[in-house]
Amino acid sequence: MPVFTPGRRYQNPFMPFKREPFKKRALAKIELIVKGPLFGCRMCGNCLLQETAFICPMECPKGLRNGPCGGSTPEKCYVDESRPCIWYKIYERSYKLGREGLLLEVLPPLDWEKAGTETWGDVLEQAKSVGAKKIFAGLAARETGSVSKTLDSIFRPVRQPAWWQGDSLYHAPKAVRLEPVSELERRLKAGEFVVAAEVTPPLSLNTEKMKQNIELLKPYVTAINFTDSPSASPRMSSWACSKLAVDLGVEPVMQIAARDRTRVGLQSEVIGGAALGVRNILCITGDSMALGTSPRGRMDIVDIDAIQILWILRRMRDEGKYLDGREIKTPPKYFLGAAASPFASNIKFQALREQKKVNAGAQFFQTNVVFDTDILDEWLNEIAKRDILDKVYIMIGITPLKNYKIASYMSDKVPGIFIPKKILKRMEDAKDKGNEQEEGVQIALELIEKIKTKQGVQGIHIMAVGWEEIVPRIVRESFNRK
Ligand code: SF4
Repeated sequence: MPVFTPGRRYQNPFMPFKREPFKKRALAKIELIVKGPLFGCRMCGNCLLQETAFICPMECPKGLRNGPCGGSTPEKCYVDESRPCIWYKIYERSYKLGREGLLLEVLPPLDWEKAGTETWGDVLEQAKSVGAKKIFAGLAARETGSVSKTLDSIFRPVRQPAWWQGDSLYHAPKAVRLEPVSELERRLKAGEFVVAAEVTPPLSLNTEKMKQNIELLKPYVTAINFTDSPSASPRMSSWACSKLAVDLGVEPVMQIAARDRTRVGLQSEVIGGAALGVRNILCITGDSMALGTSPRGRMDIVDIDAIQILWILRRMRDEGKYLDGREIKTPPKYFLGAAASPFASNIKFQALREQKKVNAGAQFFQTNVVFDTDILDEWLNEIAKRDILDKVYIMIGITPLKNYKIASYMSDKVPGIFIPKKILKRMEDAKDKGNEQEEGVQIALELIEKIKTKQGVQGIHIMAVGWEEIVPRIVRESFNRK
């Protein structure tokens, strides 16, 4: 087992795409011989060890390079339960070493041309360009921060290539965008308490049921989310459902899961979505293929993660640039959202990740389902400490429980969801009395009542998971509507 990467499982090193010159191949071999046993290096060719407390993030089965997914727990990775979540370990060690600030830097996706090749050559080149004299002086200087500044002058250009230039700063939406681009944005900006709801896309070409659901929810919600093949099982695409909603006069929130996107596909899809009238986009990493149907697709890699999507989409909109630097003459307009997970991992770690999403471009959060408002309070406090409450609109996820079976399935099997025992007990008792649905609705109403009073919360997002017909009643009773 590698010395510095806890609980690592062997994963093959990447192979270079093309044959490198001998000198480079020899250097790559030496790098692998040294970094393999120490860090479990997979030769991604885009080393981030400096930023990740010297634990290699390429151990993450999802290939995430910007932090854990919403399903992380201290005990195990949900994709492969035989190992710990490597990002949890990175966060833990970063806090221990006082390096957690480095975790805020938005790191680029792999440059696949470099995968399988050495990083040391790039580091040496960069060191040469800084100059030996300057480096020694910087390392020997007594001023605080001089050593890390010197090291940064060598490593930063290597890990942040010109086509990415990620940082740890907050990037406010550009001034020209002060006008809201969607009704959802307008209402949130106006300080209204907003309701959004989710409609599950159909499994076939028959869109009748979905259209009925859209019409049913229309008077009660500001926007409707269309999931993007949840549980890694294919359904009608989110953009197609979004377009159908636009045609019916309803504002969609198009979800985009990084799992199924290449960077080319992503950029073309958002330009297309914007052209079709989609104005709200929710960027998520997506459930792993491990949750999906068989035969399974690759479980070990995603090309881009949710934070990188936010970074790319924000720059397309605000800087009018594709990832490759080409100019977009008429940039797309959209209101960018991200998922937040108050119950995954450790709340302190989670808050740091939410801050990173806001810095990258998230303007609104839709959280995972909430059943415990005490833990929600703790999460909101951590978010407040990170000074992002005034930079992002927060909508809390609500799921009315239809029966005890669904409640226990969600509690046991769905990563990032926590249902307190007392709620499970209420649903179990209701099952014995034969009124599970009513109990589920009452629980949802009680939660919304508490959530409405929380400072920093601007709305709810109802995920009825196939029980859309209950949404009007919940909205009516929660907000005294007719
Ligand atoms: S980040 Fe890439 S180069 Fe660095 S140790 Fe991990 S696999 Fe190796």
